[in-house]
Amino acid sequence: MLKVKEHDFTIPTALGIQIRQQVSLAPLTTMKVGGPAEYFATVNTTDQLLKLVRWARHIELPYFILGGGSNLLISDQGICGLVIYNRCRQVRLDAAPIRCIGPFDERPYLFAESGAAMAGVARTSVRAGLTGLEWAVSVPGTVGGAVVGNAGAHGGEVKDTLENALLLDEQGDIQEYDAHNFHYTYRDSILKQLRPLQAALKPVVLSANFRLNSGVQVEVNARAEQFLRHRRQTQPVEPSLGSTFVNPPSDYAGRLIEAAGLKGTRIGGAEVSQLHANFIVNPGGIGAASAQDVLDLIQHIQTVVEERFSLRLIPEVQLAGEWALRTPIKQ
Ligand SMILES: Cc1cc2nc3c(=O)[nH]c(=O)nc-3n(C[C@H](O)[C@H](O)[C@H](O)COP(=O)(O)OP(=O)(O)OC[C@H]3O[C@@H](n4cnc5c(N)ncnc54)[C@H](O)[C@@H]3O)c2cc1C
Repeated sequence: MLKVKEHDFTIPTALGIQIRQQVSLAPLTTMKVGGPAEYFATVNTTDQLLKLVRWARHIELPYFILGGGSNLLISDQGICGLVIYNRCRQVRLDAAPIRCIGPFDERPYLFAESGAAMAGVARTSVRAGLTGLEWAVSVPGTVGGAVVGNAGAHGGEVKDTLENALLLDEQGDIQEYDAHNFHYTYRDSILKQLRPLQAALKPVVLSANFRLNSGVQVEVNARAEQFLRHRRQTQPVEPSLGSTFVNPPSDYAGRLIEAAGLKGTRIGGAEVSQLHANFIVNPGGIGAASAQDVLDLIQHIQTVVEERFSLRLIPEVQLAGEWALRTPIKQ
C-alpha cells in the first residue's frame, strides 16, 4: 500500500469539505464492487473541486476523480490517496455564442459542470427541442467521465457535439481546450490514456460546452424515446459496468462472447449476462461479487474468445486502485 503521510485538513475544512478516511466505494459504482478510498471527499461546486485539487497538488496527495463510477472496476484493495466524488451538477442552456473569436455561430450551446449526469444533460437538451445529444439519454455517468472516455451510443458520441472543455491541467492551471485537442477515437481520448490506475496528479475536467442544433421537438422526443426503449429491451438491469469490451473492428464483442458459449458463465458472484453477452453483471449486488471475480471473468472471456477466434478483446472498463497482488489485466 502506498504510504500517505498524515495530513492537515484545515484548508478543505475551511472550504466546507469534509475529508473522511476508509470510505467504501462499492456503493458509488454501478457494479457495486470495490474496496475503500484511503481519503474521500465530496465536492458540490466547481470552486470546491478546483480548490480541493489545488490543495491536494500542493501537498502532493495523489487524487482520483470519481464520477458516476459506471466505467470503473475498483480493486478490492481500494484506492490509495484522495478520492474526489464529483457532484458539481450545474447545467445551463444558452443561445449566446461561446466566445467571440472566429466565425459567429448562432447555434445554441449547453454548459454543464463535470459532475452533472450525462443523461440529465441530454434530457435537458431534448426538452428544449435541441438535437445532438439524444443518444445520451440512457447513458449512465457524469459529463466528466463522458468527456474523458468519449462516451457514445446509437451512432452518436461526445466528440460530435463537444465544443470545448475547461480543464485544470497538470501544472494546476485552468485552460479551455477545444475538443479536437482530446484526439477522440472510439471510446478513447488522450485524457483517458492519461488516467492511471492509481490516484495521481492528473488533469481534471471542470466543465464542458456542447454545441447543439435546433430540432423538431416531436422528432427529438421520438428519437430519445426510441433509444430508451431499445436499451430497456436489450440491456440487463442488474449491477454492471455496461459494455465490458470495446467492439473489435466490424464485429461485436457480445456476438463473439455469445458464440464462444460464454453466456451465463460465472466466477464467484460475477456472471456473463444472459441478456447481453458483453455485460458482466453482479446480480447479488454489494457483497456478492468481488472486484477480483469480475477481473478473473474478464480475463477468462479474453482467453476463451482468443482461443476460439484468434482475436483478443480489449476491455472498455477501466481498472482503478491497487491491483498489485495478482497479474494485471492485459489491455
Ligand atoms: C448500464 C450501463 C450502460 C452503459 N452504456 C454505455 C453506452 O451506451 N456508451 C458508453 O460510452 N458508455 C456506456 N457505459 C459506460 C459509462 O456509462 C461511461 O463510460 C461513462 O461515460 C463513465 O462516466 P462516469 O462518470 O461514470 O466515469 P467514472 O466511471 O466515474 O470514471 C471513469 C474515468 O474517468 C475519470 N473521470 C471522471 N470524471 C472526471 C473528471 N471530471 N475529470 C477527469 N477525469 C475524470 C475517472 O477518474 C476514471 O478514470 C455504460 C455503463 C453502464 C453501467
